[in-house]
Amino acid sequence: MTGKTHIGMGIVAYVGACSTIPGGFNYTGAAVVAIASLLPDIDHPKGILNQYILPFKNNATKVAVYTSIGMVILTLDFLYFNNIFLKVLGFILIMIAFSSHREGITHSLMGMILFAVIISYVGKHYEIANIIYYFLIGYGMHIIGDMFTKRGVPVFYPFNKKKYKFPVTFVTGSPKGKIIEEFIMIAGLMYIIYKLPSILM
Ligand SMILES: [Zn+2]
Repeated sequence: MTGKTHIGMGIVAYVGACSTIPGGFNYTGAAVVAIASLLPDIDHPKGILNQYILPFKNNATKVAVYTSIGMVILTLDFLYFNNIFLKVLGFILIMIAFSSHREGITHSLMGMILFAVIISYVGKHYEIANIIYYFLIGYGMHIIGDMFTKRGVPVFYPFNKKKYKFPVTFVTGSPKGKIIEEFIMIAGLMYIIYKLPSILM
């Protein structure tokens, strides 16, 4: 599934859920949902977020960049901060460095929980209310979206490496896949337009 479709599905889910979650619809929420719905593909050197993070879009660069940032954070934590959240962040960055696309931590519940821990800390520190809900919607919808693709997702990684998918799937980038993703975007857009009056009120 492309990054664009992931953002679309995240925003549609947010619009659908916004009357039931604290804080309702707001632009900070939409931005967090959008970024969270791209975050799992940070394990892909050509993923949308890595277009901004990595100087060269190849696996060696991905390994080098995420290992170095992870090691710097863990070292600073060891020397100065002794903060559990920095330990989690350092750990997850190193896991990202060594997991190839869709084979590891970022496409699992474990990854979602670890990122949620970091995000809730950031939210508390910078006083971004309800950030955890926005994060879970974006990230959760990404994993659900990828379960509609043939490759499936290692939901229970690292405990079980089996990839789970729904009974009906498509291949990302195939002619059928492209049509399905276009359809998801159009249906999503129509839904957002339908819900627009209640969001803006
Ligand atoms: Zn993905």
